[in-house]
Amino acid sequence: MGFDLDMTLIDSRPGVAATFAELNRVLGTAIPGDELAERLGPTLEMEMAAFFPPEEIPAVCDRFREIYATIGVAGCSRLPGAEAALGTVAALGGRTLVVTAKYEPNAHRCLRAVDLRVDHVVGWKHGPQKGAALLEHGALAYIGDTPPDIEAARAADAIAVAVASGPWSAEQLAAHGADVVLGSLLEFPAWLAAALDA
Ligand SMILES: [Mg+2]
Repeated sequence: MGFDLDMTLIDSRPGVAATFAELNRVLGTAIPGDELAERLGPTLEMEMAAFFPPEEIPAVCDRFREIYATIGVAGCSRLPGAEAALGTVAALGGRTLVVTAKYEPNAHRCLRAVDLRVDHVVGWKHGPQKGAALLEHGALAYIGDTPPDIEAARAADAIAVAVASGPWSAEQLAAHGADVVLGSLLEFPAWLAAALDA
């Protein structure tokens, strides 16, 4: 069972905003970190393209990830139902996999910081790359909060389970073709039980 990380299992907005604030302090820039934190989904490289010339983006992103490792991770918290969702899969003998756009070492740090345990983490994957990772691990479903997560599930022939805990509403996620839309992961155990029954 595959899960996205940011805004699916964890609320990473305060940590992302705090990391941008520190980056602005160090570089003397004025990136609107609070705004970017509210629409998590695009890769860091895509977001930075609006503020830096292409040749500076790799170094700026490295700097962001370095700051994120401490300040950002400290700002993470579990989203409601995350622990029970992972626990439900494990109790049924299933394996849990996180596939995320986040830099893999920072994904591990976030999961450790909020004390969520998963069997495997694949980081630094976005869009179609997420689909390839899901296929490689034989994921039956992928649970995520954005349209690219739905597309990733499709690409891997997995059930696209969308959660409206991020920037996209339940209506928007349904319109993007999610197989199932949940208000939050609090609804996940009941959905899984019903899906296994059917
Ligand atoms: Mg997400």
